Formats: sequence, C-alpha cells, structure tokens
Amino acid sequence: MSDTPKLYLNKAQLNAELNRCLNCKNQPCMTACPVNCNPHEFIRHALEGNFDQAVEAITRTNPMGQTCGLICPDKFCMAACTRRRIDFAVNIPKVQATILENYRKQTEVRLPPENGKRIAVVGAGPAGMAAAAELIKLGYLITVYEAAAQIGGALNLIPDSRLPHDVIEKDWSFIFNPERVTLRLNTRIDNVEKLLEKGFSGVIAAEGEPHCAVLNIPGEEHILPYTEYLAAPEKYRTEKPVAVIGGGAVAVDCAVTAKNNGSAQVKMFVRRQLSDMRITRGELDELLRSRIDITPMTSPVEVRKDNRGLSLRTVHNCFINDKLSPLPDSQTTYTGFACIIKAVGSFADKNVDSEQIFYAGDCKHGGSTIVEAIASGRSAAHMLHRNVSSKI
Ligand SMILES: Cc1cc2nc3c(=O)[nH]c(=O)nc-3n(C[C@H](O)[C@H](O)[C@H](O)COP(=O)(O)OP(=O)(O)OC[C@H]3O[C@@H](n4cnc5c(N)ncnc54)[C@H](O)[C@@H]3O)c2cc1C
Ligand code: SF4
Repeated sequence: MSDTPKLYLNKAQLNAELNRCLNCKNQPCMTACPVNCNPHEFIRHALEGNFDQAVEAITRTNPMGQTCGLICPDKFCMAACTRRRIDFAVNIPKVQATILENYRKQTEVRLPPENGKRIAVVGAGPAGMAAAAELIKLGYLITVYEAAAQIGGALNLIPDSRLPHDVIEKDWSFIFNPERVTLRLNTRIDNVEKLLEKGFSGVIAAEGEPHCAVLNIPGEEHILPYTEYLAAPEKYRTEKPVAVIGGGAVAVDCAVTAKNNGSAQVKMFVRRQLSDMRITRGELDELLRSRIDITPMTSPVEVRKDNRGLSLRTVHNCFINDKLSPLPDSQTTYTGFACIIKAVGSFADKNVDSEQIFYAGDCKHGGSTIVEAIASGRSAAHMLHRNVSSKI
C-alpha cells in the first residue's frame, strides 16, 4: 500500500528526530532497554556527526541492533522517553535502524585469543545469535545448530514489509566470524545433552516455541497454524474471505498479510475486548489502514468444511464477575472462508538449566520480543561462561 510507513528515516527526518532528544541526564531510555542499549549516548554521537561512535554504542550491547530497530515494540525505550511528556517519544528504534543501515561498516574486530573450549548453540534465532556473539567475545569456538534452512528463527515469519530477511543476515554478518563460528543449517538436535559427549564444554539451547496452542474445537484440523501460514503466505493466496483467530501481534501480521495477499475481506476474531488486544499503536494503525474487520469478545466453537469453503461457528463472550464467559444463545455462524488461521499463542517443551546447559529466549521465558530474547541469550552466555571458565 502506498501509505505503508517506510522502514528507515531520510536525512532530514533523522536530523529532526535526533534534535528532539532532550539529553536527559538520568537516561530513562537506557534503563528501560532489556539489553541496556544507551540511546542517549548514540543520539549524542550522531548529533555531533560521529556516526562510527554511534554505531559502536549501539552494537556494544545489541548484536542485532538493526533488526531490533525495525521491529522493537514501543513499550521499552519509547515508553520511558521523557519527550513523551511534551509531545511524543523520540522514535529511538527507527533512529537506531537508520544509523546502522547508513553508517555501519565491516571493520576488523580484535578478538581475545581462543580459550580452547567449544560451545554448542542450538537455534539460530535472536537468542542463539546473541549468545553466540557474546561467547565469541569471550574466546570460545562456537558451533550453531539450526534445524531450518536459514538463520533468524521466528523473525522469518515477520512479513518482509516490516522486516526484510536481508536485515537479519546483515546483523548476523557482523556476528559471524568464520574462524570462531561454524553454522550448521538444516541440522536438528534432538538431545542437547548428547552434545556434551561430542566434546562441547557447554550448550546454549535457544529453540524458541515450536508448538502452536490448541483450541480444542471440532474441525480444528481445517485451521492453519500461524507458523504454516506466515512461513509461505503465497501458497494460500486468495481473493476470498479469510478469518484470523487471535488478537495479538502475530494475529495482526496474519490478518495484514492475508489482506495484502488479495483477500477481499479479512475478519479477525478476538476473545476479549478491543482495548485488551496486546498490540502496539503502530499495529493498530496497520489494522485500520488495511481495513481489517475485527470482531471482539468472540471465541471459536466449531469449524466445518463443505463445497462453499470453510464456516466458523463462534460464541459471544461477556464478563460475569470479571470472568470471561460465553453468553448463552449467542452463537453465530460465518461462512465462505477460503482459509481460517489461528494465532493464539505457542509453547515450548519443558526445560531446566543445568551446570553446562542453559536455555535462552522464548523457550525459557515464553513468547516475548526480540530484544528480550537477545537479553536472555546474552545472560545465558555469561552464566555458562561462569561455569565453564571456572574449569579452564
Ligand atoms: C509473526 C511474528 C511476529 C513477531 N513480531 C515481533 C515484533 O514485531 N517485535 C518483536 O520484538 N518480536 C516479535 N516477534 C517475537 C520474536 O520473533 C521472538 O520473540 C524471537 O524470535 C524469539 O527468539 P528465540 O531465539 O528465543 O526463538 P526463535 O526466534 O523461535 O528461534 C528458535 C530457533 O531454534 C531453531 N530450533 C528449534 N529447535 C531446534 C532443534 N532441536 N535443533 C536445532 N534448531 C532448533 C528453530 O528452527 C529457530 O530457528 C514476532 C514473532 C512472530 C512469530
Ligand atoms: S529519554 Fe528520550 S529524550 Fe531523554 S535521552 Fe533518552 S531518547 Fe533522549
């Protein structure tokens, strides 16, 4: 769509954003960042024209700064930004992404000598990549095992209009050091403990949340999980109506993708009220811009398939003593869908850290955000390092 927001700021917009920063001495933007990135610092450097230093300030704590800049939600640095009290927050993520897009250069990085220990990282999503980045700096040799054919994990499900895959590859190219890292794509690890028998001193398991939540309704086999839909939306291209069950950020991506993929009518069914939807202002704008039809306080009851397509029977919800309950005699049937997609959450298998194996990212903390997954990967790397280095 022509009015889709641009990914990066132009020169004038970047200057305007930089000049809106109030140079706050207490730097609330940094405190609010899960990886402790310091917008105050990189904005100061950029204002003085020192872009190399601005790049260094961003990448010091965030190895995936450009990817983060494009998709970080507004609930961290922007929510804490003092400028909000005057008008609206400095668009810190966009400033960050723009600086890295325009001014980051491949330079020779001086690494400490190898410490003779090998670490396996399972999963090349943000948590695994951040852990690898941290462990390289500590002198380890890293092997990253990734079940999929490409790096990026769940980031690859984000539509290209928000996050082109080459941005993930670009961040990775600054982490990847062929002398220290071996990347094994298309390699699923079924038992992380067995890696210790292969000579690894420790393992970071950053496997994400591979299982989609189940609705437990008749006809669920006709519903597409969001993972399948977003991995190959062109396969499901249709002009016919599409239904999306769910009201979070992933459901928004499904709905907007279906609309951009030609569907004349995309209906979103949301269990709670519109105000309960856990989406950012930007995501709400995207829904409105794409004219997605949102039906709140609605739960699916049954899906059926016949020669006219898929039909979805729903029930209306209401609050009884603050508890969400189905309203009696409120069932409605919607017909004629080409496709019904569910985006109602995901989960990981149970996992527990041990002395040599640390879990990180969404598989440990539940579905979160890229910057939280990066923070978790970094922290797991340091915990593992503490244990392994005590034996060096
Ligand atoms: C559609 C969608 C939109 C999103 N939008 C945003 C957003 O706008 N902003 C935001 O901050 N966050 C967003 N997120 C969330 C963000 O992508 C995740 O929080 C983040 O990717 C989690 O990182 P992770 O490394 O823990 O796991 P993942 O990214 O899930 O990566 C796990 C990796 O491990 C691999 N793996 C799993 N098991 C094995 C195994 N046994 N052997 C080898 N490899 C294995 C998987 O193939 C995968 O590549 C979105 C997520 C989705 C699905
Ligand atoms: S909180 Fe906002 S205004 Fe203050 S230093 Fe950070 S970016 Fe600038």
